[in-house]
Amino acid sequence: MALAHGIPENHQRTLVLEQAEAEVVAAIREAGTLSRTDLARQLGYSRSNITSTVQGLLERHIITEVGPGESQGGRRPVMLSLNGKLGYVVGIDLGATSLDMALADFNGHLLERSSEPADVRDAPEKVLGRMTEIALEFLQRRRIQPEQVLGIGVGVPGPVQFSSGLLIAPPLMPRWEAFPIKDFFRDTFPAARVVVDNDVNVMAIGELYAGAGKGIDNFLFIKIGTGIGCGIICKGQIYRGSDGCAGDVGHICIDYNGPVCHCGNVGCLEAMAAGPPIAARAEEAARRGQSEFLAQRLAAKGALTAKDVSEAAATGDQVANQIIKESGRMIGGMLAGLVNFYNPRLILIGGGVSKTGYKLLSAIRQAVLRRSTALSTRDLHIDLSSLGDDAGVVGAIHLALEYVFTVK
Ligand SMILES: [Zn+2]
Repeated sequence: MALAHGIPENHQRTLVLEQAEAEVVAAIREAGTLSRTDLARQLGYSRSNITSTVQGLLERHIITEVGPGESQGGRRPVMLSLNGKLGYVVGIDLGATSLDMALADFNGHLLERSSEPADVRDAPEKVLGRMTEIALEFLQRRRIQPEQVLGIGVGVPGPVQFSSGLLIAPPLMPRWEAFPIKDFFRDTFPAARVVVDNDVNVMAIGELYAGAGKGIDNFLFIKIGTGIGCGIICKGQIYRGSDGCAGDVGHICIDYNGPVCHCGNVGCLEAMAAGPPIAARAEEAARRGQSEFLAQRLAAKGALTAKDVSEAAATGDQVANQIIKESGRMIGGMLAGLVNFYNPRLILIGGGVSKTGYKLLSAIRQAVLRRSTALSTRDLHIDLSSLGDDAGVVGAIHLALEYVFTVK
């Protein structure tokens, strides 16, 4: 028996794949559409093997044929794509002060999108309850049943033990320590597999599937906001390390005489170059009367943010420019070490502070070029995130899609 929208009742069984089927589905998902010939070439299976695997997936409505593609000399090949209507996924990007969410089909097409302020210092029940409300609003607008949601991807601003989906000693959100996020959604979305990951990893996944990282095997995504973190894409996949916390570069020491970080150590990059120290330096300059723009802003608001510094810099304020350049120089110095160590093809810079734009970017580029080895920078590109504010939510959608199928 089938439900409306062509979703089989026992969809969980539908989502169990043989190894070869899983490889075909993953390849199609990454590319958007592929022909049988593309699949045979890319996966190294025989043509007959691909034909029968594809046939099985077509019969189960997991993939569909979507018209002819570009001819490569002969007949135009039939292209295959995932069946977008097989199910739906919810992507959630929780920032320290914001909640971004989206609903997408199985092709990763965004159907609904929302953005609102949030406070991660609140109790997890409150924040997760709001997430549930928003997701249900999405479904209601699209006339989709909660049972049709087969995956939920959640990015959170803290260290996540990936296997359990639990936050471990999260400095920004202490009340979430070991809170069972995955279980919270079970009653409302019984068919959904919930995947929780660090926000920076999620952004890197967004760029990998839908942004400037598409088709690039080895790249880094640096988020500069309240903290500084790094998502590592290695051989076309996110690299989480042994416990899930790879890429926590914000606590690399860049000055043994530096200020105390909230982690308890001194001179961490995060304590010297992220949003709060940028704002603190600007407030100090304002108080000393070094910048009229910043002094006026401080008098009006009582406190400054990195955004104020960025706006001051945009008016040509020299002090603000210098603060941004200094932050870029420190981040670039750390990145030079990562480039020597990891040899990525691309570094993407995202997060709130990256909105200070090209001044920050050029300071980072200069520092990396000055300090990295010649070979490692010859074909290295350093750019701003191509997805901007959507990186996290798009990444959360693709994170969910990575886990909706189970491999036998
Ligand atoms: Zn630290």
